[in-house]
Amino acid sequence: MPSPKRKRPAGLPPKAGVVVFSDVDGTLLDFHTYSAKAAAAALRELKRLNVPLVLVSSKTKAELEELRKGLGIDAPFVSENGGAIFWPKSSVTVKPKGAKLVDSYWVREFGTPYASLRKALVAFRESNRVKCEGFGDWSSEVVSKFAGIPQPLAKLAQQREYDEPFVFNPVPPKDVLDRHLKLLASDGLTVSQGARFFHLSGPSDKGLAVRELIDWYAATAPVKPRTLAIGDSPTDWPMMAACDIGIAVKQPDGRYHPSLRDHKGIRLAGAPGPEGFNRMILRLLKQLL
Ligand SMILES: [Mg+2]
Repeated sequence: MPSPKRKRPAGLPPKAGVVVFSDVDGTLLDFHTYSAKAAAAALRELKRLNVPLVLVSSKTKAELEELRKGLGIDAPFVSENGGAIFWPKSSVTVKPKGAKLVDSYWVREFGTPYASLRKALVAFRESNRVKCEGFGDWSSEVVSKFAGIPQPLAKLAQQREYDEPFVFNPVPPKDVLDRHLKLLASDGLTVSQGARFFHLSGPSDKGLAVRELIDWYAATAPVKPRTLAIGDSPTDWPMMAACDIGIAVKQPDGRYHPSLRDHKGIRLAGAPGPEGFNRMILRLLKQLL
């Protein structure tokens, strides 16, 4: 329950001034069940206060469209680890910088085209005799199994534009793995680690896209909003660095990602996935609004 002094009279317009950027897998959605149920109270509060919830995910545009529809979210979103920003055309009055109109969205692309990423992954494994495979090698049945999602959703996950999720099979010892990752991440490509997969992308990352969106929100609002970023994996650290407040949720094993110790000033949610999201977003909305 909000304290009386925080309660605003009904009928007043909600206070603008906060934007929440959230990772999806393992953060807003439970790592195993892909359910946002545990975050329901925070999602309701964000809607009530008219605080934009920007999904920033490794997921594709097709997957995020489905998810946004289900959760009733209408803010812009960022697909494939920062590959592109999509602004729904209907909700934009000022054209975002550098964006082009594609169907019902203004789109700003940062990512390297998927076909180039696939070419690079195939060339890497052939010339180094490394056993690694990604979404482009698999049927929707295999993607469904590896990602732990139903097959219809796996088909949406395969509609990739800027990022190739991949695994090593078998996983080599750490020193060999580090050497492989370094080799692959040359020629302007980036390798990052998500909750389930490694990701091969261009020089784009979640931080670059989020900084662009913060500038856009600042240009369209009377005051620069306070910005929050919440996530669980190394792909999320750059977006936390771009925001005023970064929040890490625990991973399904009940621990924070080990690389979090290299990043100072990130707040700890104290719980995994959507449970951590719910706890911290409710707490911070109370503090900030
Ligand atoms: Mg995640």
